[in-house]
Amino acid sequence: MSRQRISIIFLSISIYFCFVTYGLISVICLLFFKNMIPEKKINEILSVADIARIIGEFYPLKTAGRNYKILCPFHQEKTPSFVISPDKQIFHCFGCGKGGNVFHFIMEHEKLSFPEAVKWVGQKVGVIVEDIAAGNSPKLYPVFKLISSLFEKFLYSPCGKTAYQYLLKRGLKDKTLKDFHLGYAPSAEIQLEEIKKLGLASDQLIKGGITTRKSNREYPYFRDRIIFPIINAQGKTIAFGGRSIPAKTSAAGGDNSMPKYLNSPENEIFEKGKTLYGLNLARKNILTEKKAIIVEGYMDLVSLYEAGVQNVVASLGTSLTRWQIRILSKLADTIYLVYDSDAAGERASLRGLELFVEEGLNPLTVNLPYPEDPDSFIKKYGKEKFNACLKSSQNIVEFYLNCLKKKHDPKTIEGKVNISKIILPIIKKVQSSLRKNEYIKILANALNTDEKVLIEEMSGKSKQSEYEKKINYRSPNPNEEEMVLSSMIIENDILKEDISEFGDGNLRKIALEIYSKVKEKKQNKPSAILNLLSPNVRETLSKIMANPFVPEYTPQRIIQDWRKKNKERKTRNEQIEKLQHL
Ligand SMILES: [Zn+2]
Repeated sequence: MSRQRISIIFLSISIYFCFVTYGLISVICLLFFKNMIPEKKINEILSVADIARIIGEFYPLKTAGRNYKILCPFHQEKTPSFVISPDKQIFHCFGCGKGGNVFHFIMEHEKLSFPEAVKWVGQKVGVIVEDIAAGNSPKLYPVFKLISSLFEKFLYSPCGKTAYQYLLKRGLKDKTLKDFHLGYAPSAEIQLEEIKKLGLASDQLIKGGITTRKSNREYPYFRDRIIFPIINAQGKTIAFGGRSIPAKTSAAGGDNSMPKYLNSPENEIFEKGKTLYGLNLARKNILTEKKAIIVEGYMDLVSLYEAGVQNVVASLGTSLTRWQIRILSKLADTIYLVYDSDAAGERASLRGLELFVEEGLNPLTVNLPYPEDPDSFIKKYGKEKFNACLKSSQNIVEFYLNCLKKKHDPKTIEGKVNISKIILPIIKKVQSSLRKNEYIKILANALNTDEKVLIEEMSGKSKQSEYEKKINYRSPNPNEEEMVLSSMIIENDILKEDISEFGDGNLRKIALEIYSKVKEKKQNKPSAILNLLSPNVRETLSKIMANPFVPEYTPQRIIQDWRKKNKERKTRNEQIEKLQHL
């Protein structure tokens, strides 16, 4: 073989390898960057997610001091050593040593990668994380996307004329219609013909509840209805709400015999109780105002939005679920329930209220003058008057009293007993003692009875608290320097301290890693710091931080004592040195 040929072969081989390597690197880069979620987003999710609530959705939590304790999900045990600290937003198992923040829990528990876990938690708390791996998303998303645009197109086409005019007559402007992507589902024939053109698989259409099959024929699920696309926190359409068009000479062969509102059946991407209508648009405003308004109907929400009240969500016509309440509680400090002024609205409020209290929240209920609903009220009286109604809202006890007084006379003994029988168990669930006390005062005043009697009535012996007493702390006492490190992190002042003063070499190393990460990333929230550490250091830190402090100590005190001791030691050493020089 000639020299020239050999070098050509060599060259080809090198070029080939270059391409292979280049290809591999590109693929790795692509995978890597696709999995990158901006740090800002990660911290945003961390700031609204509550670790106790998220773990609490999997396991019942038992209080243990300021923390919670459960049997560890990651190893077999008979007495709980898995501690969740809501203050620090971390968990740690003193049995197997696993620990971290809410992301680390979800990674371990759901067997997900870090970015997947971030996305998982994001979804729980209503923060959008763009799709990490597009290949994983369910096939129904594109189906809903296409059908939603089709419905929207129908609204502005001749067949949607009546629906469109009806919406305009209800006082909605084009911008609002577009913001909500409102649409129209025409008669079966027109709809099926256009759906066919989209080339979607019929089993997907049935799966998504777009069509149904009856005696081998396909029918559209929504016929002659105004369509409200239900959009999730990721901005994706996952279902539809359809409203019939009232008092209409129905040329489209509508289904006016059907209910006024109709929702898509649940599907693999739509779970009614885990969706809030309008949250995709309201989320930002709720976060800035720290106030959320809950209404019942789509139309209520859209009308309020049109009038400039844009921190509103609707509960999809069902009573509120715990999940919905938790999502809102992470976004808002104050929650207003604005239901219809009729009896049904009142019942819906009553049902919702108890769940709120159980979740540690104290919503305010807004009384609209009878017979208004939010939609009719805002149209008649405008935004200012609506805001005035929010200001004169009632707390839960006032609201219950108002409703119950209609049935029970608070002047009679029977009335007093009946009213207190219903309200006291709810007041008992209120977490703040101060608030509890104020509620008792209101109730005592309304029933013209003694507060003490009500308190006595309320505090029957509870089995649960007896059980809670049995669970006591078994976690080892933290040593003094561990408490110091933990305090520094809680007080955000690790950068101010002299890490080299830690006597324990191992702890000094950990402190140093934390110190450098905090300095580099300017990140000082305990749960966010955990994201930055190596697994070993993270688990050591979660162990240290999950340990409850002796109550009379404050983190500040602990650090001060430590500084004082260090100083004393230094002076002592200096004195010894001086003595030696004498
Ligand atoms: Zn464990």
